[in-house]
Amino acid sequence: MGIIGSFLKVQWRLTFDWPDFGFGGRRACLSKKTSPSGPQQLGYSDWIRILDDITATCDRAGCGGRMHFYVSSPASAPDYFSAFLGEVHRRGLGIRLLGRPGFIEPSTVEDMVRLGIRPFHMRYMPREQQQPGADERELEAAEHAMDLLGQAKIPLRFRFVVDESNIQDLDSVLRFVERHQLRRFDLMRAVPARGGTSVRRAGPSPHRFRELLVETRATFSRWKDQGRPMRLGGYRAEHLWWLLEWEGGEHEQAPPKGRAIHACSVARNLIALRPDGTVWPCRRLPLPIGRLPQQTVAEVLDSPRLDPLRRDRPACLGCPVERHCGGCFAMAYGTTGDPLAADPQCWWGGADR
Ligand code: SF4
Repeated sequence: MGIIGSFLKVQWRLTFDWPDFGFGGRRACLSKKTSPSGPQQLGYSDWIRILDDITATCDRAGCGGRMHFYVSSPASAPDYFSAFLGEVHRRGLGIRLLGRPGFIEPSTVEDMVRLGIRPFHMRYMPREQQQPGADERELEAAEHAMDLLGQAKIPLRFRFVVDESNIQDLDSVLRFVERHQLRRFDLMRAVPARGGTSVRRAGPSPHRFRELLVETRATFSRWKDQGRPMRLGGYRAEHLWWLLEWEGGEHEQAPPKGRAIHACSVARNLIALRPDGTVWPCRRLPLPIGRLPQQTVAEVLDSPRLDPLRRDRPACLGCPVERHCGGCFAMAYGTTGDPLAADPQCWWGGADR
């Protein structure tokens, strides 16, 4: 199938555990969740080979390439971070940086300015452990990051990643958006983390999630009517906006034929790389579809393991926004183990549901 779209999007979890990099043998890991020295972690030279392969694949397909890096904090490895981003930049690949507020350090901002990387995509994440005051600390870190980004005139896109553990933080998050007049706000569901067959953290009920969308949309509509600059982001972060808007009388045009076109890049123009070279269809969907550099990027994109993700979701058949939304593979997989199961937060009551 190759790449469907005008660019290849590569999500990459950077760990910087590269013993062959040459900074005095120092090892560093940017992700607290990823083992810093697992024997299967690829080295720097492997990642450079993979970067070359991504560049060549995009050239052959006549499309652009965009790297989406998501990391925790570069503070422990600024040299690694800086040098690797430089390699990406030299190959003409676009760079997106996505992280929690703590990711933003003076050195990160310097690199962003040097390489022209903007905006910064900041995530406000679910609490990993329920602790009193966790939301305040996260927003305090966000204030600090805002200062540093603001001094460098780097804009911010703010993403509220929501589950049951932080759904009640919506008011304080929206106050933060208002205080800083953030021009772009996205809302996205956190994927339930699966341990074996059990689900560690369930998402909100469809009804509760719909209420969250309604409240968020009403707030941004009010701000827009007041002539204020804050804007709600698009459908890629949360495709159930389509359903809400259809209920409100929007999207009266007949949807186009074919698999959902607007919501999701999975099995079209997206791959996600893990520190050991394993490739997933999306960073939120842990289904191995290949391995680099043993395979080429082109071979992985043609993997038959992606075929099921190119089919229609049975639970969506007949839905008025099926061709726009299509449900979330990652949420379905995280909740049930089947990426083609019904989207767990969808409240559409048609067909046999
Ligand atoms: S039924 Fe499927 S396509 Fe329709 S709104 Fe729900 S998840 Fe989206």
